[in-house]
Amino acid sequence: MLSERICFDFQPSRSKNFEAYTGCSAEKFLQRHRQKQSKRVEGHFVIQGNIKALNIMPFQEYPKICPICKQGKKFKFIRDFEKKQDKFSLYQCSECQVQFWLPLEIPKLSWYEEKAFRIKNAIKPKIYAGYHKKFLKTHKSFPKGTRVLDLGCAAGEFIAELKKRGCEVWGVDFDKENIRIAKEYFGLERVFALSFEDFFKKTDLPKFDIISCLAVIGYLDDPLEFIQNVKNLLKPNGTVVLNAPCRERMLVNLNHWDFPPHYFTRWNEQAVSNIFKKKGFSISRVDYVEQFKTFSEAMTSKFRTGLVGKSLTVSKNKPKSLFFLRTVYFLGCFKNYLIGTVPAAFLWVLGKILRRNNGTILVELKESKL
Ligand SMILES: [Zn+2]
Repeated sequence: MLSERICFDFQPSRSKNFEAYTGCSAEKFLQRHRQKQSKRVEGHFVIQGNIKALNIMPFQEYPKICPICKQGKKFKFIRDFEKKQDKFSLYQCSECQVQFWLPLEIPKLSWYEEKAFRIKNAIKPKIYAGYHKKFLKTHKSFPKGTRVLDLGCAAGEFIAELKKRGCEVWGVDFDKENIRIAKEYFGLERVFALSFEDFFKKTDLPKFDIISCLAVIGYLDDPLEFIQNVKNLLKPNGTVVLNAPCRERMLVNLNHWDFPPHYFTRWNEQAVSNIFKKKGFSISRVDYVEQFKTFSEAMTSKFRTGLVGKSLTVSKNKPKSLFFLRTVYFLGCFKNYLIGTVPAAFLWVLGKILRRNNGTILVELKESKL
């Protein structure tokens, strides 16, 4: 059956072709034909109605082989996405179950640097993320000398807390400004402003008890290679911790960061399990965190002004006072609170009733014993 979800997937640029074919807009067509039988054959939507056939191809062709697991050859087309001149298609591999956007071209580092990922750090570095909080709540204490590596450590707020709890902490982040804060604000020593690629090339690295890669896996173009590199640095019986937005959540397509050029892959528990299994890991713990926050962000996604980001960008060249930054930031928070909170609270309750895996999936993995 043709679902309403597909209605959403018709892209404006192809509406013209659509109208030429059908003589009416995509919306009207779907309204008329929602009840009619339809089926999808290898990327064509063939709708059986009072017109003979209507083929709509995804923006990007079906891949020959899965770019994630390197084995899968069968794919399910999920949806298209268009941003300015760029056209993307989302597919799901039937082998590893990972969903990935094509073309799988990860933006250059400069793109991330331009984005104001460090706004919160500029104001006051502290633990904001629900997945950090959850991990720290689950693991209150660690055996003496537990060695932790945080890949993508940002300003180091997470490992600074682990250090307080007696761990030997290491951190890697490509952003020099983040690493400067980690050193100066938190007094961390083993923190490196490097890409993961360059960090993994270092020959003087010890082995770690815990390797965390939080808010990382969705940005990688080759997760399998990354997992192998992580495995090489992990002690026997060590733990890997990672998270990703759960694609099984309600209103999955409302969060702007779940589209390229932000996240390039979409995950659920099965997909994480499948891809790590290929490198000999199995899941030892799963939590769903940031459920409310994810809904709240979905609600406010449509009303983003980018003012906070802009004020920080301007302040790079022409320093603005911290007072100004704080005011813009907190006004932004207040606006989000007004728009996001009430609908998010409703969805959160609904999600609990329906037992949906909403929010972010936080996973711990260990190497499977042979
Ligand atoms: Zn695959």
